Amino acid sequence: MEIISQHPLKKYNTFGISAFAKQFVSVQSIADLTKVLKKHKGEKLFILGGGSNMLLTQDIDALVIHVDLKGKEVVWQDAETAHVKAMAGENWHEFVLYCIDHNFGGLENLSLIPGNVGTTPIQNIGAYGTEIKDTFISCEAIDIATQQTVTFTKEECNFGYRESIFKGTLKDKYVITSVTFGLTTTNHKINTSYGDIAAELTAKGITLPTIKDVGAAITAIRQSKLPDPKELGNSGSFFKNPIITIDNFERAYLLHPTMPHYTLDDTYVKVPAGWLIEQCGFKGKRFGDAGVHAKQALVLVNYGNATGQEILDLSKNIQKTVFDTFGIAIEAEVNII
Ligand SMILES: Cc1cc2nc3c(=O)[nH]c(=O)nc-3n(C[C@H](O)[C@H](O)[C@H](O)COP(=O)(O)OP(=O)(O)OC[C@H]3O[C@@H](n4cnc5c(N)ncnc54)[C@H](O)[C@@H]3O)c2cc1C
Repeated sequence: MEIISQHPLKKYNTFGISAFAKQFVSVQSIADLTKVLKKHKGEKLFILGGGSNMLLTQDIDALVIHVDLKGKEVVWQDAETAHVKAMAGENWHEFVLYCIDHNFGGLENLSLIPGNVGTTPIQNIGAYGTEIKDTFISCEAIDIATQQTVTFTKEECNFGYRESIFKGTLKDKYVITSVTFGLTTTNHKINTSYGDIAAELTAKGITLPTIKDVGAAITAIRQSKLPDPKELGNSGSFFKNPIITIDNFERAYLLHPTMPHYTLDDTYVKVPAGWLIEQCGFKGKRFGDAGVHAKQALVLVNYGNATGQEILDLSKNIQKTVFDTFGIAIEAEVNII
């Protein structure tokens, strides 16, 4: 386990931003992770997973700990359910494929989301009508201050829309080392009601889809709509879909009656941020090497040599224009570093 100074991070963030870590270490075992945390107690640390949910606007003036813990196992199983545990450094999509191959159902709608298993609870990743909280059983984490191992139950994680306790009161206090999911082994709950899944399956002539069919359909849809970070730097949806009060929504809707929306309850309405951004004319626009993706206005992209600051400036320009146009504030989903 080697600690490297001035380590380049371009390959460690999917935006492909050129930045450096003051110090960098990759840990492959819990023992090494604990050792590093103990030795560098009280110092500035930064925990890195797959780098797919961050915008680096500067060098990281800290010891970057790249969590590269590997392994997965079935920890418990009965006739209908399996509890499957994966270590934090496992690639998420590969883990989803492993579950599908072993006939463990519940994660297929989250196919092809970049990043690592250990990061999935942090923003309660979600797509195609499913969130991690739907199958989450628990996660293990190491307390950075004491190096004690703690288990967090689903209730303790306080999951919300792209939110959890790890983004709130426990931000930067724990390193998540593994996550355990409760998955079906029979009677899978196939969910094709969201987006284009049903149409994609019908086009393939599939009427009784398996979890494998659903995973493949979602993978194909995502590949057709979202840029592959290996080809075009990005961090997925840059903004969250704003959840606003009915009063605020009605004010905006009066002026913009075509605004799509989903009523959540008696108080709140969710509005698709991509639509708001598109209406403001940003879709497909390029400013130097920073831009807004041509197929999905929620995704900001790096055409090659954009700096993090240029992407951040573009995001602020979008936020201001959306607010000035609709009176609706949109918030970044991506972690700005
Ligand atoms: C093309 C594309 C599509 C995407 N689609 C979706 C989508 O559909 N739904 C969705 O929810 N997200 C999506 N994302 C965002 C991203 O994939 C997820 O948020 C993912 O969970 C981030 O994982 P990561 O390992 O890359 O996190 P990183 O970017 O490495 O880290 C994110 C944050 O978590 C912290 N962190 C990382 N690992 C740990 C750990 N082990 N313990 C404690 N803290 C840690 C970091 O310090 C940082 O603050 C997409 C991204 C891309 C590029």
